[in-house]
Amino acid sequence: MKNNIGWIIHLCANGNCDECGKREEGFLPYTCNAHTHGMEEYGHMDFQLVLKAHPAEIGRILNTFGLWVQSGRRFKAGDMVSGIFQDCNVRLDEFEETGRTVLRIIIPDDENRFPEDEECMEVYRLQLLETDELWRKDGTVS
Ligand SMILES: [Zn+2]
Repeated sequence: MKNNIGWIIHLCANGNCDECGKREEGFLPYTCNAHTHGMEEYGHMDFQLVLKAHPAEIGRILNTFGLWVQSGRRFKAGDMVSGIFQDCNVRLDEFEETGRTVLRIIIPDDENRFPEDEECMEVYRLQLLETDELWRKDGTVS
């Protein structure tokens, strides 16, 4: 019975992402591309977070989903998920990440508004952007 953690987390923010082979500069403020690799071991899509947070918090959220999948839970686009934050649910949406489809964990703003809501705080609305729109092309340093 395998009981190890079978996934890894990449946190791509301004700077280098050596695993993805991409040098990423010029991320929009408050954004990053944090995601898991390895959930396919459980026959599941990987997870992504694009709102910048403390790395420990990003790790907590992604690992919580990972542990849930490991214990047998299954998630799909459109799911509203409780248990990550005490005061709100998060939602899962499908997005492309480096040529694969992942489940992006969408976090509502302080008023529990999701990004498609025009009243939603601007920073949280950035979660609607495609992965490769999260950074400014002209900010790229090669
Ligand atoms: Zn990666």
